[in-house]
Amino acid sequence: MLPWAILLLNIMLAGGSLAQELPDYVLPLSVPLQDSDSFDYIVVGAGAAGAPAAARLALSGASVLLVEAGGDPNLNTRIPGMYSTLLGSALDWQYPTVTNNVSCLSHSDKQCRFSRGKCLGGSTSINFMMYVRGNHRDYDELGIEGWAWKDLKPYFLKYEGLQDLDKLPYNSLSYHNTSGTMKIGFFADSENSWHSRTIKGYRYLNFPFNYDVNAKSQIGISQVIGYVNEGERMSTARGYLTRDDVKSALKVTKNTYCTGVILDKHNNAIGIKAVVGDEKQNRTLQLYARKEIVLSAGAIGTPQILMLSGIGPASHLNDLGIPVRADLPVGDSLTDHVFPQIYASVNPDTSMSSQSEAMERWLYNRTGPLASIGITAVTAFLNTRCYDVSQRKLIYNSPDCEIPTMQLANLYLDVGLIQSNLGFNNIAQQLIAENKNKSLILLGPLVLRPFSRGNIRLASSDPLQKPSIFPNYLSDERDVDEMLCGITIVEHLMQTPEFKVQNASIVHLKLPDCPEYEDDREGYWRCYCRHLTTSLLHAVGTARLGPVVDPQQRVHGVKRLRVADLSVLPEVPRGNTAAVAIAIGERVADFIIKDTDKYLFD
Ligand SMILES: Cc1cc2nc3c(=O)[nH]c(=O)nc-3n(C[C@H](O)[C@H](O)[C@H](O)COP(=O)(O)OP(=O)(O)OC[C@H]3O[C@@H](n4cnc5c(N)ncnc54)[C@H](O)[C@@H]3O)c2cc1C
Repeated sequence: MLPWAILLLNIMLAGGSLAQELPDYVLPLSVPLQDSDSFDYIVVGAGAAGAPAAARLALSGASVLLVEAGGDPNLNTRIPGMYSTLLGSALDWQYPTVTNNVSCLSHSDKQCRFSRGKCLGGSTSINFMMYVRGNHRDYDELGIEGWAWKDLKPYFLKYEGLQDLDKLPYNSLSYHNTSGTMKIGFFADSENSWHSRTIKGYRYLNFPFNYDVNAKSQIGISQVIGYVNEGERMSTARGYLTRDDVKSALKVTKNTYCTGVILDKHNNAIGIKAVVGDEKQNRTLQLYARKEIVLSAGAIGTPQILMLSGIGPASHLNDLGIPVRADLPVGDSLTDHVFPQIYASVNPDTSMSSQSEAMERWLYNRTGPLASIGITAVTAFLNTRCYDVSQRKLIYNSPDCEIPTMQLANLYLDVGLIQSNLGFNNIAQQLIAENKNKSLILLGPLVLRPFSRGNIRLASSDPLQKPSIFPNYLSDERDVDEMLCGITIVEHLMQTPEFKVQNASIVHLKLPDCPEYEDDREGYWRCYCRHLTTSLLHAVGTARLGPVVDPQQRVHGVKRLRVADLSVLPEVPRGNTAAVAIAIGERVADFIIKDTDKYLFD
């Protein structure tokens, strides 16, 4: 969080100078809609998957309406260094969650935070911009026809517009494309001395330096590529929806909230119901699709719409008095990346630009710390079974060492930055005290393949009420076991010369009901993980391939309805999730275009 940067930005906005300096790109305008308007296709959700799906369908010559609940992303979304200010903002759905009483215990009301983007670009407009596709085996292991790595790779390449190929080793070439619509590249130098220190610290623990986690091997410490182009965020709104060819072909409606799919008596999806406008002034419309409807409202929004339409677990729908149209396990099997927030107290970085200088540099040249996500771009992947605790080093003793079980994430918090309670109930004051004269590094040992499963249900039959999200993190103790392996590595990192010389030490927060660290190290950390549990906001699986949709993403038991977003993935990839969501959006358009001649109405 950079409160000074927000302040400065507001001052510059008030003075009108920023608007003049920002090069323009123009997002599509909302089209006026009348009740009963019809299109060939309706795509619901303009996020990572929905924007590419709608754009590709429109470019194929079809008439397409893209329906988005949010509006335009704001100026802050363009500045990479402002990413953390977007959490909890008006662009975030800020979904409430239901506690399972064994995780997120230190969060207010024991509720895990569940952010999602609500604007054009969806979560790609508010996310941390790390471009990681996951491991090739994530797709091969699904065992679903047409979903192996060889099937998905062409789609990753299709949209990728890598600007920095020259900075990658020669053997990376076949894994990248430079001409796709999503321009990506390395972040600008963060100028934070902890950046190189963190890399050196992991190198000391024998992590190889990995130039390209999206090439052959994912393992090691890396500086990842970002959804960033010339110092600005590259969301799918920017990558797809600002294109002139897309704008002239695609119709977009913003601030339009889909409340359900209209099914005819033969279970053909023929339209959607939507509320257009804000709470004070809105109208309800029925909009029709002559060919197909694609739900791309994300792993929370899509199952909600399906269940509101009578597509979901029959017993749940019956309880709410919603007529059942297809009895499917929608909303089940929610899985997500989780980590405990571990804080290290460190000497402050003194090499960064002053606050006003940083903003000026970004405004005029798109350079400097605000053109980067800081040390968050430094991340490590490893299989914790291949970390030798006694030798304190990463080893390679089996081919499985190439399959990561953990990602180690980093976030630098400057002195005095922690002022609010960060959503924590009983530890905020301790963190504020620790941060008074020292910087903090938040280290996140995140479990790449959690065993715990949660679910999503409707809170009521009222479509305007947010759904009931039960993430159920850490319900399987094996997830805590994995976190513990990561915490050991983080402890060792603090002992490396790079960290030690900077007085780095882990903050052992005092937690109610937890043993003291000094008395019972393992008991303390197990309890700690349950208190400071945090989602990396990568939920998948809530309308999954197999039980809910077929390999072409068609919903079972219903015709003319597909799901194209992360709901369809049965397992979370071993990496960040936007990359595969975009590929899913690109791909569904191809599936649909191939099927075009089948849409002759009875
Ligand atoms: C804060 C944050 C940080 C993240 N960091 C990274 C990262 O660094 N790298 C990475 O790869 N991934 C990251 N992710 C995850 C990644 O962005 C998401 O997994 C990905 O965007 C999901 O794609 P999607 O298409 O399934 O959903 P989304 O991108 O969330 O899109 C869904 C869209 O549907 C709209 N919608 C929902 N309900 C309705 C409705 N009823 N009617 C109309 N519209 C609706 C939403 O407003 C949204 O625009 C992060 C996510 C968050 C929230």
